[in-house]
Amino acid sequence: MDEQWRERAACKGMDTSLFFPSRGDNRAVKKAKQVCATCPVFDDCREYSLALSREFETMGIWAGMSQKGRDTHFGAKCRRRGYDDKDLP
Ligand code: SF4
Repeated sequence: MDEQWRERAACKGMDTSLFFPSRGDNRAVKKAKQVCATCPVFDDCREYSLALSREFETMGIWAGMSQKGRDTHFGAKCRRRGYDDKDLP
């Protein structure tokens, strides 16, 4: 997968801890999501993070989405297709 989009990321050069907030730090989550909302490569990041999440447990905020959001995304997709997320490749 071509990852050159990372060069144009709004978060490039920022303190990465912003995107890996402590549990319950809603203020940091909100701030990270605000950065993502301005990002010119949001769609690339969303696609990449969701693909990664199918194989690995991913932490932090990616494309404005938390791990819980990614899990929910896959859960909803699985329910729509009528199979359990444990059946995902
Ligand atoms: S969408 Fe957010 S996490 Fe993804 S590259 Fe852009 S700023 Fe970084």
